[in-house]
Amino acid sequence: MSKYFTNRLSNLVPYTPGEQPQDKQYIKLNTNESPFPPSGGVLKAVSGEVGKLQLYSDPECTALREQMAKVYNIEPEWIVMNNGSDETLNFAFLAFADEKSPLVFPDITYGFYPVFAEINHIPYTEIPLSADFSVNIDDYIGVNKTVIIANPNAPTGKYVPLCDIEKIVKSNPDNVVIVDEAYIDFGGESAVNLVKKYPNLFVTGTFSKSRSMAGVRLGFGIANPALIKDINTIRYSTNPYNINRLTAKAGIAALEEQNYYTENCKTIIQNREWTKAELEKLGFTVIPSKANFVFAKSAGLDGEKLYLALKEKGVLVRHFTKTRIKDYNRITIGTKQQMEILIEKIKEIKEELNV
Ligand code: PMP
Repeated sequence: MSKYFTNRLSNLVPYTPGEQPQDKQYIKLNTNESPFPPSGGVLKAVSGEVGKLQLYSDPECTALREQMAKVYNIEPEWIVMNNGSDETLNFAFLAFADEKSPLVFPDITYGFYPVFAEINHIPYTEIPLSADFSVNIDDYIGVNKTVIIANPNAPTGKYVPLCDIEKIVKSNPDNVVIVDEAYIDFGGESAVNLVKKYPNLFVTGTFSKSRSMAGVRLGFGIANPALIKDINTIRYSTNPYNINRLTAKAGIAALEEQNYYTENCKTIIQNREWTKAELEKLGFTVIPSKANFVFAKSAGLDGEKLYLALKEKGVLVRHFTKTRIKDYNRITIGTKQQMEILIEKIKEIKEELNV
């Protein structure tokens, strides 16, 4: 830290993103990216826009929000677009939480939540998940604080049924309930269907996972127009051009080719269930997942050891050092071929280490 760094943030511990190694080619199963490239129309749409980059983008994202409205079956005023759902979440924390309405979220969840809370000086409480990593709904009923729940959760992949999400939203009418649906397209039911019913529900989503565009940085929020207006107050006070021209075009093209992405999600779900079964045959405990990853622990193999051994063999998975989950690895679901290689490599490691 330099002597110029503000005291206000001197205790801030930044979020640690998953590795993006540039040295050699790995089978990358560590940051929940899609193994499939964006659909054909995206390339055309982006290259057609390059010649206009001397001009600022449309701060209202009019065309993109109109296309979103068609796919999500809701009017454009209910939608805000941001630079990844990370930005949407940061804006939502800033807009809807403070000392009077502090944050609550599970102890095991997306690691960015405490960081966004810290940088915005929002007090927060982490509520322990139960032993099997389920969200105990009663912990959130009438909690009277700003709630953030990732559904499905990360890094566990566990899904909370929509009826339980609805109970939480309904019982906290004086606070916003944020539902982070980064992984909803891999088998869950979206809370977007409830936003017309609950003015305190704020749903976030992303193009990074099911729509194969982590590199484009496109995320969104869907909620009552009053909440969307609040997010826009923050957005216009931060960076009204947060969606650049190329990203906007890529997003529109992807939404026009929704079938391609829906089919890819089906393949990933099949590969996930295959991987889970194979890991179980090898003695792993695998948490049931509705995401594009599984969270698994081996009886004989330490989580960090397995992560390092797989890395040595050219396969990257994610390991977290937090005590409660240090025995686990989070494994992104890729193509069938990638998952077959993963299983092969795990078998080799088990033989080499005699476990
Ligand atoms: N929410 C959760 C639960 C995530 O795992 C991620 C991905 N790291 C995000 C939000 C952010 O996704 P993005 O900013 O790429 O849209």
